[in-house]
Amino acid sequence: MDHFHEQGGILHAENVPLTAIAEEVGTPVYVYSAATFRRHARVFREALAAAGPRVHIAYAIKANPNIAVLRLLADEGYGADVVSAGEMARALAAGIPAAHIVFSGVGKTRDELGRALDAGIGQFNLELEEEGVVLAALAAERGIVAPAVLRVNPDVDAGTHAKISTGRKENKFGVPIDQAPGMFDRLAGLEGLDLRGVAIHIGSQLADLAPLEAAYARVGELVGELRGAGHAITHVDLGGGLGVPYRPDDVLPSPADYGAMVARATAGWDVTLMFEPGRVIAGNAGVLLTSVIWVKPGVTHPYVIVDAAMNDLARPALYDAFHDFVAVKPSGARMTANIAGPVCESGDTFAMGRTIDAVASGDLAVFRTAGAYGATMASTYNSRALVPEVLVDGDRFAVVADRVSAETLIAAERVPEWLKR
Ligand code: PLP
Repeated sequence: MDHFHEQGGILHAENVPLTAIAEEVGTPVYVYSAATFRRHARVFREALAAAGPRVHIAYAIKANPNIAVLRLLADEGYGADVVSAGEMARALAAGIPAAHIVFSGVGKTRDELGRALDAGIGQFNLELEEEGVVLAALAAERGIVAPAVLRVNPDVDAGTHAKISTGRKENKFGVPIDQAPGMFDRLAGLEGLDLRGVAIHIGSQLADLAPLEAAYARVGELVGELRGAGHAITHVDLGGGLGVPYRPDDVLPSPADYGAMVARATAGWDVTLMFEPGRVIAGNAGVLLTSVIWVKPGVTHPYVIVDAAMNDLARPALYDAFHDFVAVKPSGARMTANIAGPVCESGDTFAMGRTIDAVASGDLAVFRTAGAYGATMASTYNSRALVPEVLVDGDRFAVVADRVSAETLIAAERVPEWLKR
């Protein structure tokens, strides 16, 4: 459920008409609903109450790392799952305590590991044995012990888009699950390392809980095996991945369904369960507000050319993702059209032959479910401005990320002396 609704014929974010935001900030612009973020955070937490009292939720900030969003989620008691020093800096800047931050990521540099140790990060999710050796040495040099878990790859097909699947053995993530016991034996004795458990994350936008349950079952077996070998396993990080509805008729497992499955799959584990949800918290909490520039006649259908493009919302070009397109002031009429942005690539197409609200030049519309993996993936391709972000809370709104103009970007570039005239 989200808080983007039509009131008096105009689409609103909570109590703010999107027309007011377009007028003040311009388009394209991402618009987030604080009430929706809060609701998703609470629903997800409540769903996991079924899994027992020792639960730590670290929001995967890659989904939407705006620091206003992070502050909102920190106020909901959420920690952060980060994958770079930049994300760590954001989480800390938003007031998330270092101890509540999990550092994931397949390519943490030695410098990033050192900085995270210095910051007092709560947990490192190791991706390979050598990373554990290096982390242990860096921690020992500092006279501290790094809390860590080993990310395992269960070789389970998450049944999602190949580019967001992470749990097959050919993917770059985690260590093969059958090699984990040997690695535990070798890493457990290292000074500077407290290898206290395992982590898993098999992919994103999962529409079916069965692959997750199968993966968790493998983790349960591994926990038993590791304990049998004398290792103290106190933490298991079950990752993120829960999908969200993108199409009006999508039916996905609810957080409550997920919580019930987790409770079933982890019964008797006696560990602190950790979670890294991203999309399920942020996806439906944001829309990309855009203006129609032209309706251009096409061979089969007209092209609705909007001022948002693949550089602002990359998901359709990257993963053929579907984003519902709705008019801000729908007339009730419908049209079948292609929807594309101004970027000079045929891939800059949001939809082909889709039946949508009828729109004309100058009309406002939104791409829905754009709160996750939207603004964070934006670029300035074609020297387009970096898209701004607005947060709505009740009847107020604020710009929480500026539009970064081409002029600002040009000011950060230099012509070397030898090319100057
Ligand atoms: N944790 C890890 C390690 C990830 O790679 C991701 C994203 O792919 C997430 C959590 C968040 O996934 P999602 O947004 O699907 O919940």
